[in-house]
Amino acid sequence: MHSDDPSGSVAGVIEKLKARFADRCATSQALREQHGHTTTWLENQPPDAVVFAETTEEVAETVKICAAANVPVIPFGTGTSLEGHVNAPEGGISIDLSRMSSVLEVNSEDLDCRVEAGVTRKQLNSYIRDTGLFFPIDPGADASLGGMAATRASGTNAVRYGTMKDAVLALTVVTADGNIIRTGGRARKSSAGYDLTRLFVGSEGTLGVITELTLRLHGQPEAISGGVCPFPDVQSACQAVIMTIQMGLPVARIELLDSMQVRACNSYSKLDLAETPTLFLEFHGSEAGVNEQSETFSAIADEFGGGPFEWATAAEDRSKLWAARHDAYWSGRGLRPEAQVVATDVCVPISRLAECVTQTAADIEAEGLLAPIVGHVGDGNFHVQVLVDPDNPDEMKTCEAFIERLAIRALDMEGTCTGEHGVGQGKQKYMKREHGDALELMQSIKEALDPHNLMNPGKILPQS
Ligand SMILES: Cc1cc2nc3c(=O)[nH]c(=O)nc-3n(C[C@H](O)[C@H](O)[C@H](O)COP(=O)(O)OP(=O)(O)OC[C@H]3O[C@@H](n4cnc5c(N)ncnc54)[C@H](O)[C@@H]3O)c2cc1C
Repeated sequence: MHSDDPSGSVAGVIEKLKARFADRCATSQALREQHGHTTTWLENQPPDAVVFAETTEEVAETVKICAAANVPVIPFGTGTSLEGHVNAPEGGISIDLSRMSSVLEVNSEDLDCRVEAGVTRKQLNSYIRDTGLFFPIDPGADASLGGMAATRASGTNAVRYGTMKDAVLALTVVTADGNIIRTGGRARKSSAGYDLTRLFVGSEGTLGVITELTLRLHGQPEAISGGVCPFPDVQSACQAVIMTIQMGLPVARIELLDSMQVRACNSYSKLDLAETPTLFLEFHGSEAGVNEQSETFSAIADEFGGGPFEWATAAEDRSKLWAARHDAYWSGRGLRPEAQVVATDVCVPISRLAECVTQTAADIEAEGLLAPIVGHVGDGNFHVQVLVDPDNPDEMKTCEAFIERLAIRALDMEGTCTGEHGVGQGKQKYMKREHGDALELMQSIKEALDPHNLMNPGKILPQS
């Protein structure tokens, strides 16, 4: 519990922040609610106030004011996280980084850049388009790069380009006591001490506030081809994915949509795909390379009863497909507009993918759930979006039990309870099962870096 002492109360903190930041410290109900969790059925728990910071020093000042009064701080990027990450269960101050939106430097010759934490991935890509470089991590939503680092995000391109753990070279971080540290330089590798960069990547705002990121960039591929490939069932689609990865075919994207998701995309994005499990693919490379990769994949699909693989090199055809893939969340919602979404993800070793997806599909059917499956299957990662009526306790019970079985199924297959969405509030209950005694070490790290539990409290680590 945090301080009730009036001299150190939230009200006192807000007074100080208003004196310092004027209308950049907001307390309206609407703004506070916008800065709590809004993307899924999880309860909205708004902070007491929102500070719109514009510099690293302003973040540090805000953290110091809060720390002096024992008031929690919740960093906020664009609020697209799915597990209640930005909720303020103990109240406190949300630090919104969206105004820290400058690209500070682009070093084309070294394929890296430095950005403020509020820059979004689309904003970075349009800024660097003319350099021939691009930033590949693509979680669908136009999330902030600070938020993406904080959740160790990935997405459709991760199978080829890795996740935020691979993309971040260094960070500037405001620690829980308001100090400003830098976790590395621009070197591609380093053996100099503990890897603080990777400690903060995925820490969900529980260890500090990221204010700047140094990121790896990649050359835009000379040629891109991609398309869709239908399969008779999810099992054969997954087997084709497994073989593609095991053969080392360098796919840039390989995404599974089950038949329910294809139906949703057809209706929402005005497509006319066959309503059967379908893989969306993209290949990057030279003209000859992408043709060869497409042909190899066609042969693999054929072996598992899939196809025809219809591939297109025209940019507008590809963007229509990928726009539909990125809108999968919204199209899924359209299957039952009055319902709420419980979005969940797991990740398993690639050899267990077919088994995990098939068992999950059978579970969905047995429970009679409306729950499309869509996934970045090249990484063994897939999502299920369960559409439920949160006011119906029986439905909620069925949904919760399904999600628990899914998480345990993935863990039993030596996978993880979340491949990319993160823990937030929703996945804490699986942390002990996933990490065993290592969870205690995580708790010790938290206590060492944030002894008063002020940085985004109530997230990642199960509450004792
Ligand atoms: C339609 C849809 C599709 C999605 N698809 C994917 C997907 O394919 N892959 C994927 O990985 N995710 C996906 N997500 C989830 C979400 O987009 C990611 O988790 C994203 O990385 C969150 O970024 P954000 O800027 O919105 O962060 P927020 O939601 O604002 O914050 C997320 C967490 O990070 C912390 N945080 C934010 N900024 C900072 C900072 N500067 N310093 C320290 N901590 C910070 C917050 O306190 C919070 O704990 C999807 C979400 C939606 C709505």
